[in-house]
Amino acid sequence: MKLFKKTKTSRFQTLVIGIALTAAATLVNAKPNIIVIFADDMGYGDMSNNGHPTIRTPHLDQMTAEGQKWTSFYSASSVCTPSRAALLTGRYAVRSGMESKAYGVLFPDSKGGLPASEVTLPEMLKEVGYATGMVGKWHLGHLPEFLPTRHGFDSWYGIPYSNDMELDRPKVTELNGGSLGQWHTGVHWDEPKSEYWQVPLMEGETILKLAPDQTQLTKSYTTKAIDFIESHKKKPFFLYLAHSMPHVPLFRSKDFEDFSAAGLYGDVIEEIDHSVGQILGALRENGLAKNTLVVFTSDNGPWLEFKTKGGIAGPLRGGKFDTYEGGMREPGIFWWPGKIKPAIIHDIGSTLDFMATFAAIAGLDAPEAAVDSYDLSGTLLQGEASPRKELFYYKSTHVEALRVGSFKVHFDRDARSAKPAITACYNLDHDPGENYDLRESQAHLLSDFIQRLQQHRATIEPVEDQLARR
Ligand code: MG
Repeated sequence: MKLFKKTKTSRFQTLVIGIALTAAATLVNAKPNIIVIFADDMGYGDMSNNGHPTIRTPHLDQMTAEGQKWTSFYSASSVCTPSRAALLTGRYAVRSGMESKAYGVLFPDSKGGLPASEVTLPEMLKEVGYATGMVGKWHLGHLPEFLPTRHGFDSWYGIPYSNDMELDRPKVTELNGGSLGQWHTGVHWDEPKSEYWQVPLMEGETILKLAPDQTQLTKSYTTKAIDFIESHKKKPFFLYLAHSMPHVPLFRSKDFEDFSAAGLYGDVIEEIDHSVGQILGALRENGLAKNTLVVFTSDNGPWLEFKTKGGIAGPLRGGKFDTYEGGMREPGIFWWPGKIKPAIIHDIGSTLDFMATFAAIAGLDAPEAAVDSYDLSGTLLQGEASPRKELFYYKSTHVEALRVGSFKVHFDRDARSAKPAITACYNLDHDPGENYDLRESQAHLLSDFIQRLQQHRATIEPVEDQLARR
């Protein structure tokens, strides 16, 4: 019968079809894996390739040499909760109610969290077949309806808020002699013990234990992350590894005790660096390195009040809680061997941009709601200029500063007024430490900043303050 007659042509066709099917399968499998490694309160200056004199970060340094280091890479807030909300949604946190006039972050007595109406990174990536896993600190609502498993993550192992938070908050105060005023200086910060903090360690939606051994957090997060990578290597995956460290209280495992010349804080960073090496090693060993984008950054700047128990922002002014550069400019490393052209990038980028960037590399459109997200893939993959030219620095629900290109202005505290006043203007390329006010010489630029602020504010709709819910 003609249908089954074997001819040279049909063998050729079979071959062509075979090649086409293989190519199609490769294309389907070609969706890259994406891993975000997120440190907590790590400063811009806390890695050796950003100039720290004594903290050794050989794995971050190698990641930098093989990938792109962005020197103007920003979180969207100088504190945990709004920074994380913005990263997962591509929206300034004020839009989701995760910035508040009353509170900086969510606390264990909060009743709010990231609203279900928000579209998150894992939800977007699940649409095109990604497995989604989270390991580490969440801090976007600890009540069941707000947990990672309700926001697009297939699995989660970690703690629901910061490692200094617990259901029985007054106990911490008691340890400090009953005074909240001593909270920052109590002896338990210098010689922390895990039992001082009744923080829950969770898996999925179950509390595994209270007051887990915090010396094991970085290590166990790393083990869980590698387990996730190895068990999902046959399909594209998104892994969000949000370390609890180096947020105080500082803990590291036995292997890293007195390991760093930079003391306890250095030990903690060097263990995180070791973890980065293990993750990249696991990708290489499993043949995934060429198909995996790994990003390393931090949620906000160093907690300077903790002195040597906090990090440093290097040449930048300020730290955590500040809208000076030290509060929000973070280490920013992108690694994807064979895809990302190694370079040092001075253009502006932000964790807000993960949504549009990951959408582009996964071959889909970013959600419409991700209005503050720019697609950085042209810079990462083609060496184009970054499309992000500006950044709004939020402090609670108002904009305290604005960067456009090289210049940044600070607004007075009452920036919500109809005519906000500019209190300082800096050229960040010439003056990353924000020392030399240029309002006089750059007076011609200032009205444009006011106009941009007013245009931006007009896009902010009033929503329920999630941080104030009690
Ligand atoms: Mg933080």
